[in-house]
Amino acid sequence: MSRFDTIVMVDWSGGNDRGAVPKPDAIWAGVVRNGVEEEPVYLRNRQVAEAWLAGLFREEIAAGRRVLAGFDFPFGYPQGVARAVTGKADPFALWDWLEARIEDGPQRNNRWQVADGINALFPGVGPFWGNGTRRDLEHLPRKGRDRRGHGCAEFRQVETLAKGTFTVWQLAGAGAVGSQVLMGLPVLARLRRRFDTAVTVWPFEAASGQVVLAEIWPSLIRDAVKAEGDDIRDRAQVRLLARAIAGLPEAELNAMLAIRSEEEGWILGLGHEDALNAALAPTLHPPALKDDCFALPPGVDWTPVPEALARLRDILHPVVGTETVPLHAASGRVLAEDTRALRANPPNPNAAVDGYGFAHAATGDGPQVLPLVRGRAAAGLRYDGTVPTGHAIRILTGAALPEGVDTVVLEEDCRGDARHVAFNGPVKPGANTRKAGEDVAEGDVMLPAGHRLRAPDLALLAATGHGAVPVHRRLKVAVISTGDELREAGDSANAGQIYDANRPMLTAILRGWGHQVIDLGRQPDDAGAIREALNKGAKADAVLTSGGASAGDEDHISRLLREEGRLSNWRIALKPGRPLALAQWRGVPVFGLPGNPVAALVCTLIFARPALSLLSGAGWQEPLRMQVPAGFAKSKKHGRAEYPRARIGADGRVELFKSEGSGRISGLSWAGGLLELPYEAQEIAPGDPVTFLPYAGFGL
Ligand code: AMP
Ligand code: MG
Repeated sequence: MSRFDTIVMVDWSGGNDRGAVPKPDAIWAGVVRNGVEEEPVYLRNRQVAEAWLAGLFREEIAAGRRVLAGFDFPFGYPQGVARAVTGKADPFALWDWLEARIEDGPQRNNRWQVADGINALFPGVGPFWGNGTRRDLEHLPRKGRDRRGHGCAEFRQVETLAKGTFTVWQLAGAGAVGSQVLMGLPVLARLRRRFDTAVTVWPFEAASGQVVLAEIWPSLIRDAVKAEGDDIRDRAQVRLLARAIAGLPEAELNAMLAIRSEEEGWILGLGHEDALNAALAPTLHPPALKDDCFALPPGVDWTPVPEALARLRDILHPVVGTETVPLHAASGRVLAEDTRALRANPPNPNAAVDGYGFAHAATGDGPQVLPLVRGRAAAGLRYDGTVPTGHAIRILTGAALPEGVDTVVLEEDCRGDARHVAFNGPVKPGANTRKAGEDVAEGDVMLPAGHRLRAPDLALLAATGHGAVPVHRRLKVAVISTGDELREAGDSANAGQIYDANRPMLTAILRGWGHQVIDLGRQPDDAGAIREALNKGAKADAVLTSGGASAGDEDHISRLLREEGRLSNWRIALKPGRPLALAQWRGVPVFGLPGNPVAALVCTLIFARPALSLLSGAGWQEPLRMQVPAGFAKSKKHGRAEYPRARIGADGRVELFKSEGSGRISGLSWAGGLLELPYEAQEIAPGDPVTFLPYAGFGL
């Protein structure tokens, strides 16, 4: 028998239409075709599912591919039921019997009535139970214990071996499968008839058809499904089942399919759980590296900082969608589009000072006396009339220039009474006025996409007519501290324990950068706990871990990321820092920071900041670099960049923290920034210019 080319695993549903948006408890189908896994398909109701299955079978048959299609509901009832209902000990007779009676639509079906009718065929109170309708049905009890004397077995033989299966007789309640059988078998009966000899149904028939239908049970891989952490469990179930079955060795699958059962059916893979789960275990050496984006080319060893940064910059791109937020909530957000002025600033020509306005044309050199018109022009109080040439008007700062006025003379330069104003000419045409749009013209691009909004930008946006702006969704960043020795700040700690200093620091930094923090707490040095935390972290856009990231085998996070997360240890020529672990966990970038808080901060500022900024849509960010004279002498070795803690002293020169020991957390607070000493050897004498990176330039 050949292997199957296409594996389709279907999670069925006995309920009504679940709507257009993918939801749990609908029908889900996982497909692996020729070894290539497809995104699970959401099928909102049985009509849609049946059409989809028929189309798929037709296509695969036409293409000459063999299909194994699994469905997660029993294909048969306990021994004897088929004969009692149809007169024949043939499961297909029961399929056809049901197919002739079940009426099914997206919003309603008659399964309760059909079950009630079947119960009426049995003595006593029939085997089906779990009437989930509001109406009482004569033969269908609500509770299982209300039945007696019907003579049917409660479970099929296979169910007595599979721990946790439900009985086919239960129609309603959490986990019940009875409705799925009643609503599933008619669909299978039609598919079987439609494709005739191309379809065989295992284990009633040999698995020899071009399309083989089989009963499956996702609980055989329940741990893997749990670890997947998908919020739609059905989707994870079909994805993983299809992957597991497609990944089985041929002999193993043949052994599973060797079972035959005349009437009750069987669960494919029962007793072969280890093989199924082994097929899901991560490969130690993933062969495909195409999404292994952090992998360094072979032979690359200690990478200089600028090269490491250039690589990160190449690899990463924005990952966040957009939304519109009101202006008052937009501070710190990243503009998703170039933003143009909706209105000019200022919108009208207006007075820049308090004084008197008039037409310049009627004035000349020497003393000028102009009669005043009645009334005045003030901000928000427009003068509606026209000021005749040769007349003047009292005008206040911000007032729109009335018709007939193009020039303003400052109040302090005038004498006036109620009727006239006097001043000395000549006055410059247009003096003390602001032109419409002289600041920003309507339609001007003021702020580019990718700009992170600061308070002053909100003033500009408001002035130019914006009440809301399109921004990138906040980047979600998960933070995990690792280490058995860590205690939560403020808790009691014994001599062997230390407080988790990194999490308060990192979460505060990330919030300051405008990201949304998902705090995943402290995790022990235990692969299971860290895996679970990383699975939660995979819902974020990026993960920062600290601790356990060196290459030593005892470092769990390193090992876990290497085995399951496409880890690359970037050995960056950097002090303090050691290797930076860069990995992908379910496609989400993971930055494995050193545990040491000094090194963790330096790596965060130098590497994580620009990388996260790029992911967030704000583009790559360089630190602010200031050239400042050194207040120290230092001889620096060739071969790595150094970022010692530094600050600018009262004499305007850069001083260094007294110790370079990376355990000295106090130096982080002493400092006002970092010194940047490049890769090459350097002899620094007092007074030489050095590069200082102030904390403020990192947004701290
Ligand atoms: P590791 O990278 O796990 O080998 O940790 C290096 C050093 O940093 C060890 O002394 C750890 O105890 C310390 N360390 C790790 N994580 C933290 C943390 N979250 N807060 C303070 N110190 C830490
Ligand atoms: Mg550790």
